[in-house]
Amino acid sequence: MVERLSRLGLHQIQDVLFHLPYRYEDRTRLVPIGSLRHGNSCMIEGKVDHAEVSFTRKGKRRRMLLVHLTDGTGGVVLRFFHFNRQQQDNLAPGVRLRCFGEARFGASRLEMVHPEYTVVRDEQSVPLVDELTPVYPSTDGVSQRLLRQLTQQCLSILQTGENLDDYFPEDCAEQNTYTLEQALRYVHRPPVGADLNQLYEVKHAAQVRLVTEELVAQHLSLLELRQQGRHQAAASLQSEQQLIRQFIERLPFALTDAQKKVSQAILNDLKSGVPMMRLVQGDVGSGKTVVAAMACLCAVECGTQAALMAPTEILAEQHYENFKKWFEPLGINVAWLSGQLKGKKRREVLEKISTSECQVIVGTHALFQPDVSYHNLSLSITDEQHRFGVEQRMSLAEKAGVNGESRLAHQLIMTATPIPRSLAMTAYADLDYSVIDELPPGRKPVTTVVIPEERRQQVLERISDACRTGRQAYWVCTLVEESETLQCQAAEDTQQHLQQLLPDIRVGLVHGRMKADEKDRIMQAFKRGEIQLLVATTVIEVGVDVANASLMIIENAERLGLSQLHQLRGRVGRGEEASHCVLMFKGPLGDIAKQRLAVMRETSCGFEVARKDLQLRGPGEVLGTRQTGLLQLKIADVVRDEYLLDDVKRLAARIQQNYPENVQPLIDRWIGDAQRFRHIG
Ligand code: ADP
Ligand code: MG
Repeated sequence: MVERLSRLGLHQIQDVLFHLPYRYEDRTRLVPIGSLRHGNSCMIEGKVDHAEVSFTRKGKRRRMLLVHLTDGTGGVVLRFFHFNRQQQDNLAPGVRLRCFGEARFGASRLEMVHPEYTVVRDEQSVPLVDELTPVYPSTDGVSQRLLRQLTQQCLSILQTGENLDDYFPEDCAEQNTYTLEQALRYVHRPPVGADLNQLYEVKHAAQVRLVTEELVAQHLSLLELRQQGRHQAAASLQSEQQLIRQFIERLPFALTDAQKKVSQAILNDLKSGVPMMRLVQGDVGSGKTVVAAMACLCAVECGTQAALMAPTEILAEQHYENFKKWFEPLGINVAWLSGQLKGKKRREVLEKISTSECQVIVGTHALFQPDVSYHNLSLSITDEQHRFGVEQRMSLAEKAGVNGESRLAHQLIMTATPIPRSLAMTAYADLDYSVIDELPPGRKPVTTVVIPEERRQQVLERISDACRTGRQAYWVCTLVEESETLQCQAAEDTQQHLQQLLPDIRVGLVHGRMKADEKDRIMQAFKRGEIQLLVATTVIEVGVDVANASLMIIENAERLGLSQLHQLRGRVGRGEEASHCVLMFKGPLGDIAKQRLAVMRETSCGFEVARKDLQLRGPGEVLGTRQTGLLQLKIADVVRDEYLLDDVKRLAARIQQNYPENVQPLIDRWIGDAQRFRHIG
């Protein structure tokens, strides 16, 4: 049993007390059978009218016991699939039963399947409980009865003065009227008449007290993580900004105010000598790369190296091309390192990285492998943070320093998937946080339509129209096949098929399995307008920038995540013309899928898309951390409880300042295994 309980994380009294019910049953009153409605879970009492053994009709015929129960207001059938002789005998006509279960509409009447029941002897009325009955998350072999007993015992222990320390200091009391003990008591055993709706919405003051505490603990643990980093030294990068000035002068556009503001914040961080840990968010196309480039230039001007890591080859390649184009004229050497690079070539690159021969290194996760040693890395930039773990990010940062001297690299994290502030604050409290909240001028919102596959013909006409007037279009295949080879094959088929249907249009193809130079050749042809319709797998999620392309078709759009759709859509809407995105789907669609596509149609702002995504999928999915347990909050929910976050932040700061001795106990209580934060992503 101990083993089973420990599977639920229940080792000590405190664990039991913080194992909270996820719903309640109202056994405080008897409901007349006549007023039962489908879906009601309640307590009823009645007499057995008759009982019979019968068989299910469909499929394998299963034996079942049907007990007809009446109470003068109406009748209900109790259905048991598992029963023994003794039970059958007990449930004889005339026997009085008290049952708790969920009423459902069966074949033609209301029934309860496997209700809990007790036989009521002697017509005497058995007293009802005066508290709502908690239902706890459980596991095989741990019954609700046991969990209720355990919590009851633990609550009694609390009452005898064996107090659970309340780490919210007195002067935080105005935040909430409940003490920790009162809050726990209420949540485990709400009194008769407690508002169940309020409890389900987790808006009761007792719950709010606990939710707040959990969020404070979560926030504190990230602040701690951040402080650990801050104790280490980092290079102080004070540059005259010569290189940055030259770089900006050569750009064909002026920086947006948002880019200026964020890069200034970064340059300030780099000066300080304390390791920078900054997350930069910006919608697709907001120009994060330029901001990253400026940070690199600062590092280079100070005689150190900068590394930029991206999660995929294609994204990394794109950055490499940009950086070469921007930096080589300034006399800076840029190196490329990816997992694909093998043998002699790899050795050569590693050699360059370990000497002063190159200043900027771009690549994939290959950048932080053990055999890569840097000459004097001072800045590590990761693009698309959510695909890397803290651990990976840290292992790159820890490669900093010269001659074995312990230094941490400054870290800049850029994410193209905007994360709502609420989530960022809880998930990334260890990071400073800047937003590029402005798009370069001239971007037009993309009109998005959602169309079933059956209306493909209409879509083809749209493509013809666009191409006839000199525009270009993308056709994105998001395929059903798991294997990349099959996907690429299917993309080839799509290209051929579209070419047949649209004989006057030059249709090209690009996919992940092509050689880099082949891909490049196709992309260049598309840029020059020689290809009018470009069929692509989702490789174009990142990358190409063709202002003349004003139409994007996404096939099987229902299969993609919202942020991915938003990224893809960001490829159009970059020119003068009004742009369109057609989301084709294969029906029938479920509710969530419908809602998701509607979000794309109605929302063009990436932050808003992300917010909706979070609501529909939950933070674990959005951050890609579902399996690893980050944000597996016991009771808090960053979307639902967003309104508390400002309080949480204030309270955490206050505890950290005035009651530092309470910080660790709070973290231990709610988060316990601090290790899990080493495995985000
Ligand atoms: P993202 O933030 O999605 O990574 P990029 O850095 O790829 O965006 O920038 C998208 C495009 O916008 C690029 O072609 C880039 O050159 C261009 N760009 C960046 N900043 C500006 C600006 N201030 N004005 C005009 N275009 C810009
Ligand atoms: Mg980018």
